[in-house]
Amino acid sequence: MKFVYLFLLLLCVPNALADGLPDLGDSSQLALTAQDERRIGEEIMRDVNASGDVIKDIEVVDYLQNLGYRLAANSGDAPQKFTFFVVQDPSINAFALPASIIGVHSGLIMASSSESELASVISHEIGHVTQHHIARMIAQQKQDAWQSFAAMAFALLAARSNPQLAGASMQAAQAGAIQKQLDYTREHEREADRVGLQILSQAGFDTRAMPAFFDKLMKGTRFYEGSAPAFLRTHPLTTERIADVRNRVEQLPYRQVTDSPEFNYTRAKLRAMVGNPNQAVQWFQSILNDKKYVDEAAQRYGLAVAYLRANKLESAREEVAWLRNKAPRNPMIETLAGNLLVAMGNERQAEAQFKQGLAAYPNHRGLIYGYGELLLATGQLDAAVKLITDKQQAYPDDPYFYELKSQAYTRLGKNLLRHQAQGEAYYLRYNLPAAIEQMEIALRSGDGNFYEMSGVEARLKQMRSMLAEPKR
Ligand SMILES: [Zn+2]
Repeated sequence: MKFVYLFLLLLCVPNALADGLPDLGDSSQLALTAQDERRIGEEIMRDVNASGDVIKDIEVVDYLQNLGYRLAANSGDAPQKFTFFVVQDPSINAFALPASIIGVHSGLIMASSSESELASVISHEIGHVTQHHIARMIAQQKQDAWQSFAAMAFALLAARSNPQLAGASMQAAQAGAIQKQLDYTREHEREADRVGLQILSQAGFDTRAMPAFFDKLMKGTRFYEGSAPAFLRTHPLTTERIADVRNRVEQLPYRQVTDSPEFNYTRAKLRAMVGNPNQAVQWFQSILNDKKYVDEAAQRYGLAVAYLRANKLESAREEVAWLRNKAPRNPMIETLAGNLLVAMGNERQAEAQFKQGLAAYPNHRGLIYGYGELLLATGQLDAAVKLITDKQQAYPDDPYFYELKSQAYTRLGKNLLRHQAQGEAYYLRYNLPAAIEQMEIALRSGDGNFYEMSGVEARLKQMRSMLAEPKR
């Protein structure tokens, strides 16, 4: 949870300091240059990726990123500057970090009863980003204030991760003191609501979901198992604020919106990943028995994922068969069918399944990962390299593609290519020194042709100059 430290550090700003903010868009007063922001963003993402709390399941990642980009594309900012990730955490929360990075808790996705509800919270966070709220808070900080906030944020983190620690109660008391300072100002909240609602509307979602979900969060603290949703602590909700949003919504056209199948399947998948596998199985079984669902296919999908986790493969197969007969074709079902065949040891059938799936959905990463891993596991190394090289055109920034390639080259005995691919993977995981080291090993490997050697040399030179860029 190291990234939480950075997050806290950057949000620990007394409300008093946030008064008298510079005018919107007055970037001359912002402390962060584009280059600073990129560096901070890379540091945050390195911590985020190293944290065990981030969900790596590629279908969950892709779902949230696609939703995030769809919303960001309607924000007036360039969507590519945004990064979205999912934290494995049952509490209901989402947060914006510097460098246009937005984190969403799995608990928020599961608690949203419609895709428009989920989209309304993400839009609100995008609103904080486009209005430069964090940068404006940072701009007001002095160096010494930063240091004391850093110390306190660290104490909070230590108290959270190890309550038995000597002095933890004192730290927790300090932690409570900062917790009060974590809120955005009311003005920030109003702005983020206003901008978020515009984004939600332009992206084609049901705008009524925003006040409805906020209302549910505020009133329904008991419904959400005890403590108030974490979102309420960092984004204080008031009845006045909700009424304000509701008034704005009334001036917008009414729109009936259907949830995407991916929203329903992603929620079910996240639910199937909670707790021990047998409990997850029971959870879906009881929903299906009591017919407490809107979308039966999503519950069957969740049950199949839970069965697969519990290693009850025959039961999983029955659910997948139901989905293939009764539900509209979907790449997430195709991927699950392939992964299940792999788990059952039916490599031939799994291969045919992934091929069929990719013929219909050539860019679905769940299928690409599954097929690539299968090709490696069955020793079809050239085919694995060919698949990944082909699919990299659509995903040039995916480090896992390079890691798969590096594994294939290792077993093919191609050392230059192995280390070059590993170097690119480190680069994309924001570890520049390790990337440079791999490129140096690649050059010394002695098994590359002239063309390959020059390629590595040029890339190494580029990476070294990036490392030499002056730090602020
Ligand atoms: Zn907010």
